[in-house]
Amino acid sequence: MIDARDDNGELPVEPSEHEFASALSILNADGDQPKLLVPAVVGTRPEAIKMLPVILAMKQSELVEPIVVSTGQHHHMVEEIFEEAEIGTHVHLWAGADRASLTERVSTVMRRFNDFLLEWFGPRPSDDDVAGEILAGRYPAAVLVHGDTSSAMSAALAAFHMRIPVMHVEAGLRTGGSILSPFPEELNRQVITCIATMHFAPTFTNLENLVRENVPVGQIFVTGNTGIDALRWAAGLQTPFVDDSVQALVDDPSKRIVVVTAHRRENWGEGLKSIAEGVGRLADRFEDVHFVVPLHPNPRVREELGTPLASRTNVLLTEPLEYTSFARLLGRCDLVITDSGGIQEEAPSLNKPVLVMRDSTERGEGVDAGTLLLVGTDPTQIEDEAAKLLSDPAAYAAVAGATNPYGDGFAAERIVSAMEFLLTGKSPPVPFGSGFNRREIGAASGLHLREYLERVTGDESTSSEHAELDAREQFASGSWPP
Ligand code: UDP
Repeated sequence: MIDARDDNGELPVEPSEHEFASALSILNADGDQPKLLVPAVVGTRPEAIKMLPVILAMKQSELVEPIVVSTGQHHHMVEEIFEEAEIGTHVHLWAGADRASLTERVSTVMRRFNDFLLEWFGPRPSDDDVAGEILAGRYPAAVLVHGDTSSAMSAALAAFHMRIPVMHVEAGLRTGGSILSPFPEELNRQVITCIATMHFAPTFTNLENLVRENVPVGQIFVTGNTGIDALRWAAGLQTPFVDDSVQALVDDPSKRIVVVTAHRRENWGEGLKSIAEGVGRLADRFEDVHFVVPLHPNPRVREELGTPLASRTNVLLTEPLEYTSFARLLGRCDLVITDSGGIQEEAPSLNKPVLVMRDSTERGEGVDAGTLLLVGTDPTQIEDEAAKLLSDPAAYAAVAGATNPYGDGFAAERIVSAMEFLLTGKSPPVPFGSGFNRREIGAASGLHLREYLERVTGDESTSSEHAELDAREQFASGSWPP
């Protein structure tokens, strides 16, 4: 049996037979030139955060229209983030929460995403008709997925089965080691790479990872990371904290604050216990420093990380913070200790040093740039590295002052103008690091898209090998990233 309970343990209503069919009429209803429909799939909190600026930019577009699909993996956290950004979810797949087994989740998302596509758009039109149906806003032009979750991988595979082109945001992250770490994300992202025909890579290193796996360079576009776009938006809101104790800490400029988050599946068990031990020792050693630990809803995380730290007066265990409050806390804190992926990109853009509690990271550029220090889960290593930063101002300044390689806050804009160019021939976007080849993507996405591109624009021009060459030159000369 599938456990469809969400991250608050509530059992959602199963979708009724025709639930998915209801909302199509709200799109393309005003009689204007129809927009091209692009379902954007979101399962977890980090996906919601990083897709948020892309969805907002698509809403602003005159050419493409997002259909927001929430798989239900982190239902409440996703809804909370979307509410803050006034994004309505069109479709809920209710595919179950973290305690569902991976196979259950993957099969449920695939089946329900497939049902949604069929109920909204019907079976894939014939090769002769598909271009017209896409242009009329009756069949999806592409499906947009993000990152490396089971939701993203399952939706991508279901879209592929219906021969709908898949575009991948945050493509090309690799730890360079085993497919078991991070588990199951490292494999998910590699599977999505095989399926997608348009890869939005945050950095040039991500592009190189993809090229190393034989992804044609003409199908990759370097954009910067959309998480930085989201953080800029969120940190500007100065959202008040629901928890009064956190608010009091943040409001008192004399308090030093360390933010700790840990929840990765590969750290469950021994890893989380070691992390709790390391953070506990630090809290005992630095009594004047306050450790704020937003606990992931997963019950194992709560028990293995939360319980051992609960008795210390300078450790504040909280519920997960709303994203915009968390962004504010990141801006206010002194140090971040985490096993999270997204936070490794976010905190350095607010000049906060990050200790990464993993053995390897797919954010190698941050380690190279000096914004991230890889400490693993050994308690002594966590204690020693954090103690150095908390007591040696020069060591602190060196890490806090390093330049964040993850973006300039305009990734979503680039992604949407790349989509517009690809799908409609509108003028190409200015690349962050590398251009892409429109004709190649059309061909890789299937005959129907190539026919469609010819029909829309009568033009098969490429986005410019020149842009890519320029970027390589800039990269070599040290003037890229900007
Ligand atoms: N985050 C949040 N509230 C919290 C802790 C984290 O909104 O209490 C945000 C954080 O800003 C980042 C994202 O959640 O954007 C990271 O999520 P997580 O650590 O769950 O996943 P990962 O990035 O490792 O995939």
